Amino acid sequence: MPELPEVETLSRQLQNKICGCAILTSKVYDDKLNGMGNVQGRRILVVERRGKTIALRLNDGNSILIHLRMTGRLLWQESSIRPKHGRWRITFKEGNIFLVDPRRFATVKIEKTRNEKIENDLITGFNKNSFLEKQAGRKVNVKVLLMDPKAIAGIGNIYACEILHRAGISPLRQASTLSLKEWNKVFDYAKRILKKGIEKRGTSISDWRDLYGCKGENQNELKAYGRAGNCCLICGGTIRRIKQGGRSTFYCPHCQK
Ligand SMILES: [Zn+2]
Repeated sequence: MPELPEVETLSRQLQNKICGCAILTSKVYDDKLNGMGNVQGRRILVVERRGKTIALRLNDGNSILIHLRMTGRLLWQESSIRPKHGRWRITFKEGNIFLVDPRRFATVKIEKTRNEKIENDLITGFNKNSFLEKQAGRKVNVKVLLMDPKAIAGIGNIYACEILHRAGISPLRQASTLSLKEWNKVFDYAKRILKKGIEKRGTSISDWRDLYGCKGENQNELKAYGRAGNCCLICGGTIRRIKQGGRSTFYCPHCQK
C-alpha cells in the first residue's frame, strides 16, 4: 500500500512532467469512476501531495484528487493504449497518465481547490504542540496512533515499524505512556525515515512502482520490516513478527522498550 514516501515520489515526478501542461482529453474506463467529469482543456498549475492524496491543481479553481488506496498506481505512457487494469486516463501533448489498479479501490474525483494547510504532515508541516495536546494522550496503541491519518499523515505499516524500531519504542506500548523525550525521538526518526524513503523513491516490496514503472530502492534500507528471525542491526537481538490489529508488526523485543 503506498505510504507518504511513495505518494510524494509520484507527486514530484508528476510536477516535473505535467506542471503547466494542458489536458487534451480524459477517459474513464471503470464505471466506479464515472463521477469524474470531463477535464478537457484545463491546465495543470501545480501538483501537490495532501497527506496520501495527490492533488492536481487546475486553472479553473478545481483540483483533481487521486487517492491510490491499496493497489493503485499512476503510470506515464507515451502510447494511449490502455494498460492492463487501466481505469482512467488523462492525455497531454507528450503522453498519457493512467490510473492502474487491479483491486479498483483507488479514487479520482474533482473538487474545488482547498487552500488550508495540513498541520499533521511530518514533511510539509507538523504542529507538534497540537499533536501532543490532542493525540499523544489517546488510549490507543502507539503503532495504531502513528498509522491514524487524523493523527499523522501518510504513515502505514512499513514505515510505522521502521520508525518505532529506530526510536527504540516497543510497538506494544500505549501511546499515552510515552514521555515527551520519547515522542521527540519518534518525530525525529520519523522525519529521517520518511525523507530517506522519498530519496529512494519508495519501498518496492510488492507492487509499488513509480510513474515510469520503476521500482523504488527503499526496501534495501529497511531495518525491521520483513526481517523476522534476522539479527537486529542496532543491538544484535532477533527481530520478531507479531500480529497487531490484523497487520504484521516487526520489532526487536531486546532494544524496543
Ligand atoms: Zn534490537
